[in-house]
Amino acid sequence: MAKYTTPDIRNIAMTGSASAGKTTLVERMLHAAGEIGNIGTVENGDTVCDFEDLEKEYTHGIDSAIIHFDYNGAHVNIIDTPGSPGFLGKAIAALPAVETQVIMIDAASGIDTITRKLFTIGKDRQLPQVILINKIDHAEDLDGLLGQIQNTFGTECRPVNLPSNDGKGVIECFTNAEGDSDLGDVADFHTGIVDQVVEVDEELMEAYLEQGEVSPEQLHGPFEAALRQAHLVPVMFMSAKENIGVKEFMDFIATLCPNPLEGNPRTFMIHEGDEQEEWHASNDGDHPVAHVFKVSSDPYVGKLCVFRVHQGALSPSVHPRVGDSKKPLRLSHVFKLQGKEHVEVPEVISGDIGAVAKIDELHYGSVMHDASISEQMKIKPLPMPKPMYGLAIDAANRNAETKLGEALTKLLIEDPTLEVDRVAATGDLVLRGLGDIHLRVKLRVMKDRYGVEVTTRTPKVAYKETITSNAEGHHKHKKQSGGSGQFGEVYLRVEPSIGEEAEATSDGFVFVDDTFGGSVPKQFMPAIEKGVKAVMSHGAVAGYPMYNIKVTVYDGKHHAVDSKEIAFMTAGKKAFIDAVKKAKPVLLEPFVKMHISIPTDLIGDISSDISGKRGRILGTEMLPGNQALLEAEAPLSEVMSYTNQLKSITGGTGSYEMEYSHDERTPANVQADVIKSFKPDAEED
Ligand code: GDP
Repeated sequence: MAKYTTPDIRNIAMTGSASAGKTTLVERMLHAAGEIGNIGTVENGDTVCDFEDLEKEYTHGIDSAIIHFDYNGAHVNIIDTPGSPGFLGKAIAALPAVETQVIMIDAASGIDTITRKLFTIGKDRQLPQVILINKIDHAEDLDGLLGQIQNTFGTECRPVNLPSNDGKGVIECFTNAEGDSDLGDVADFHTGIVDQVVEVDEELMEAYLEQGEVSPEQLHGPFEAALRQAHLVPVMFMSAKENIGVKEFMDFIATLCPNPLEGNPRTFMIHEGDEQEEWHASNDGDHPVAHVFKVSSDPYVGKLCVFRVHQGALSPSVHPRVGDSKKPLRLSHVFKLQGKEHVEVPEVISGDIGAVAKIDELHYGSVMHDASISEQMKIKPLPMPKPMYGLAIDAANRNAETKLGEALTKLLIEDPTLEVDRVAATGDLVLRGLGDIHLRVKLRVMKDRYGVEVTTRTPKVAYKETITSNAEGHHKHKKQSGGSGQFGEVYLRVEPSIGEEAEATSDGFVFVDDTFGGSVPKQFMPAIEKGVKAVMSHGAVAGYPMYNIKVTVYDGKHHAVDSKEIAFMTAGKKAFIDAVKKAKPVLLEPFVKMHISIPTDLIGDISSDISGKRGRILGTEMLPGNQALLEAEAPLSEVMSYTNQLKSITGGTGSYEMEYSHDERTPANVQADVIKSFKPDAEED
């Protein structure tokens, strides 16, 4: 049995931009709680959290690390998440596993795109949030930064402590109203946060208005309520490196952060299709429910799946199932994690975080439960950034050729922001991720861990084909070879598909049988659909997959002896191509949204560069330290190698992220070139 119970648990996701100081803080806390004797540093590569060789090489995290410690009666689980744009998916994946999201901001560099994104995602999921301003030992304008935080994230961001003594200490301002801080009188900030907290409790507000003060004990409950209702985002100052404000932060976690019974419950989706509905765990439920939020490969135990238990307890005797599968899983052991160390425990209780090894059926997002649930179930989908940065990969040698597929599968189940697809039009095998470093790291992992080496190229753009008007198509397939023949004739209509019918499918393909009088016997309709679908996936005019097309078969002919499936498949295919060619086909190309951080004096240069790439600047925001954030939109084809282009314009001082935005029609000249270079497979009729 665990030495602690569910109310003792505090689950915290440590999020924030790369280099904010998250790993340094975790190391400090482990030391303060007596879990480790020596404090490791990121520079020496000996911290508990950055344990992968590649993390040591990059000196910041590329995956989440889970650690735990006991402090002041609380059992604290911390998920230390990576903060660089390429690994943001790992940070987002950690959010449904915790009750509190900490967003750490480097006081010297201020708020950046990643900070905003992390804040918005956590807020949208109703996660209580805490802002930690780190590195107060070498910050210049903490007052300005606090103002900027309140402007950006709202006035509910209120300090619970303040920097003092020129950044060499912190002074509490929630229960204390006395003294001086580097930002002014403590009393003013005390009033600020108490005013904010009492607003969630009418009775307390009246007492406060009458008496001018309320006791810390009276504020405790309303504080937690304000945190849960996002009416308060506590702000704390610290220097993790100099050990300033660390103990205060640990006290804050133990006394004021919600435990699993108090936190806002996570939303699951149960059933599938039209019947899908929201489902919430019940903390006192006996039936275990746990979701996997991290999958990794451990050099000793192999595949390791890290999960959060939402109700019941998970242990080897439970034999949980996944989704609607009736097959129970055999968990031989369950573990608690401490960085790369895993310690076997008899069970992982409700609200706690644990891990299992070597279970093939589990992957990122799997929900485990006992036989009391027999439906498909998943955690409410997270807003994962859609990977748009692609590299075409080719096996570097014979060995890689045979093992590439398996290695890619293993990488994909670990990372929700990684995709691989074979582009039918070009034959390229394309690995897609969030940026150059993201993919380079994955390819290194593939080489080091699975011994699979690949060469890379810039892939061709994945265009899409669609139609812009209605048209009719016809084909008669007739073939006589020796004895039996083939006969099938199809008349069909195509039109752009719109509305619910189209939205219900991923490619907007709608197929309707509107024949009558048995002109085409029902048993041949699937063959026609199959023929049409083959063209949908390979393209009719340029060799790219087709989207948003409604196909109505309205007439045809058959032959009592010679009509076969193959004949109707070919007729369907060709009638469809015939119709599409008349329906004003167009090529769509993907546009990406970009967030580009640069020094302000380069705004002009970057803006004209983006315009030259058929892009648009959507907004410009000034940030502290002469930095600017540009929001732009551009066709992916023009910014495939933006990493190098930005580097050459800014001399390495700029950074950017991009994600899928929408599709737009390609300009006529681009379309003409692409169509010209398309050589459909010669096919006999
Ligand atoms: P992470 O990427 O958020 O995990 O950040 P790290 O913990 O790896 O820290 C990034 C860098 O900031 C390292 O060089 C740390 O030594 C340094 N650092 C962390 N905390 C502080 C701090 O409070 N003050 C100063 N001056 N440097 C810090």
